[in-house]
Amino acid sequence: MATNRGVAYLGPGEVEVQSIDFPKLELTEQKRKCEHGVILQVVCTNICGSDQHMVRGRTTAPPGLILGHEITGEVIEVGRDVEFIKKGDLVSVPFNIACGRCRNCKEGKTGICLSVNPARPGAAYGYVDMGGWVGGQAEYVMVPYADFN
Ligand SMILES: [Zn+2]
Ligand SMILES: [Zn+2]
Repeated sequence: MATNRGVAYLGPGEVEVQSIDFPKLELTEQKRKCEHGVILQVVCTNICGSDQHMVRGRTTAPPGLILGHEITGEVIEVGRDVEFIKKGDLVSVPFNIACGRCRNCKEGKTGICLSVNPARPGAAYGYVDMGGWVGGQAEYVMVPYADFN
């Protein structure tokens, strides 16, 4: 199994590069395959101003959360149901994770997608209360609904 490293939030003012699981085309919560997803080898990732809210301890971000919601990478693995993205593509992903199929997505309100966060509408990679998606300040990251995202 290939290795992976990511930037983990440890507590207010504290982050650390840690060894983390290599991403799988899998939805952990629903315990099923994620055939609409791809895995990226991250080429570039940003530290966003909104990451500062977590890192400075102004949120309830849990220790161990892998940060990073602004991601550019090369596609290295493609789920069976992905049609328009190919291995080797260089892609950037929007920070909001969206399914592209629900009512809100169809109205263009991808920031409040109804399908990607069981707790409330809207999700993002590596962000507190945004669906538990692993962030992209890492070597590798999984992107669901790859054709749309
Ligand atoms: Zn941001
Ligand atoms: Zn949606």
